[in-house]
Amino acid sequence: MGSESSQQVYRLRAAVSGRESIVPVEEGVLYRDAETGEELVPVARVLPLSRSVSSLPRTPENLRVCRRCEQFTPRDLAVCEFCGLPA
Ligand SMILES: [Zn+2]
Repeated sequence: MGSESSQQVYRLRAAVSGRESIVPVEEGVLYRDAETGEELVPVARVLPLSRSVSSLPRTPENLRVCRRCEQFTPRDLAVCEFCGLPA
């Protein structure tokens, strides 16, 4: 109790239909496609990682391009989220 949520957003895929959903996943919870009822399995973790310290939504106006690694990094961070280069 009182601890921060460490929910991670995953891309889930239904094995048969190939339908995909992007949802925050809680450990031990089984996810099913809302329409087909198929079980969804995680196929990829979606950026940003939960360890990101940025609280901004990942939209173009909140991101800048790092001049060293050329990744999009949140504007509210003092350093690049990927390579650590100061803004
Ligand atoms: Zn960088």
